[in-house]
Amino acid sequence: MSEEANPRLMANKQLDLAAEVLGLDPNLHAFLREPIMVVEVSVAVRLDDGRIRLFKGWRSQHNRFRGPTKGGIRYHPDTNLEEVVALSMWMTWKCALVNLPFGGAKGGVCCNPPEMSRGELERLTRRYTFLLSPFIGPEKDIPAPDVYTDAQTMAWIMDTFSILSGYTVPGVVTGKPVDLGGSVGRVEATGRGCVFTIREVLKHLGIDPEKTTAAVQGYGNVGSNAACLLTDLGVKVIAATDVHGGVINRDGLDTRALKQHVGETGSVVSFPGTSPISNEELFALDVDILIPAAMGNVITSHNAGKIRAKVIGEGANGPTTPEADRILRDNGVFVIPDILANAGGVTVSYFEWVQNLYNFHWDEKRVNHELEKVMVQAFNEVHEMAKEKQVDNRTAAYLLAVDRVARAGAERGLFP
Ligand code: NAD
Repeated sequence: MSEEANPRLMANKQLDLAAEVLGLDPNLHAFLREPIMVVEVSVAVRLDDGRIRLFKGWRSQHNRFRGPTKGGIRYHPDTNLEEVVALSMWMTWKCALVNLPFGGAKGGVCCNPPEMSRGELERLTRRYTFLLSPFIGPEKDIPAPDVYTDAQTMAWIMDTFSILSGYTVPGVVTGKPVDLGGSVGRVEATGRGCVFTIREVLKHLGIDPEKTTAAVQGYGNVGSNAACLLTDLGVKVIAATDVHGGVINRDGLDTRALKQHVGETGSVVSFPGTSPISNEELFALDVDILIPAAMGNVITSHNAGKIRAKVIGEGANGPTTPEADRILRDNGVFVIPDILANAGGVTVSYFEWVQNLYNFHWDEKRVNHELEKVMVQAFNEVHEMAKEKQVDNRTAAYLLAVDRVARAGAERGLFP
């Protein structure tokens, strides 16, 4: 893996930059560069053909200064320890940026869900949960969905953890089905939050959404919901890609019909009325808004210079390397950094956790309204900080987040 593509080095570089501007205490800085705890597990799964296969899995808890740890679980063939640790660190900053009482965590299992049966995924999830059970819980560490995991995965985790506990524990995960104590609005929350921040940027730049176009990489939970909500704003979404390929229609895609197509076929590819486009081509399209909503490390020093979009809303975690950030800044691209742009998911996860703790349900209007307040406030704070310190939005977001985490750490002090 090249140095630029190593997510852990990337996460540390981003922290170092903020630490320098903040004048962060060197002891705290060193502490924050490392996760507090990482668990590595070998998940034994009986496959449908009777063989037993071992899958490597991890859970990284980065920081607990502000509360229990929180973060998604990713199933992906490229997931590895370095990535999981970086993602857990980004969760710490994200939770602090939107002022949630959580530290960051992340889990991952190296596997390829599109090639696995539902039964295999269920057995993998239950065994992984069993192995992690001493380390998770509503007051300890609360997983949620991420790439190739969803509400069903969370239901299996909740059920397994509850059986091991001897009573039902809905608050152990968020992003559950609504029937099991999930929050309405959680499925769309990350895409919705991302679109709230894009709307604020367009307002600030004086651009009418109805005169803009957009392209989206990744048409799963985040990408498809962001695309549909952008369409509602009047934005013309012209292209979308996923792991299998992509589609473009310069007159605009029917984003909801495309979502249904993905539900039926598993991919955006061959959506009627479109031409094919590659993931690489998508980034160089002449659009106003670009939403990376798949994997990390997709905007690098190799393609950042080709990006023509005015605004990038980072639905994905870690899509842009620090080298690419410099190029985008020089080219005047308005980047809404991941820890802000995709914070809507963890924000509604927090609402879900709160509802579980006091056994109550909010309606969707309330969830979306509270989410909008959180996202708009965080956007304004980042924007003000960027102006005040004359830094890019990512550094501004880090200045706010790292300072909040560091203050909590200093106030708690070091045990023993
Ligand atoms: P998902 O599994 O629902 O969708 C993932 C999408 O990415 C799919 O369209 C898949 O085909 C595509 N993809 C996978 N590998 C790819 C590749 N190599 N090239 C191109 N496309 C690829 O996942 P999601 O929950 O939508 O997550 C997408 C991103 O958003 C991730 O970076 C995740 O960490 C981030 N995120 C998710 C949430 C959430 O609430 N789900 C919250 C914050 C951030």
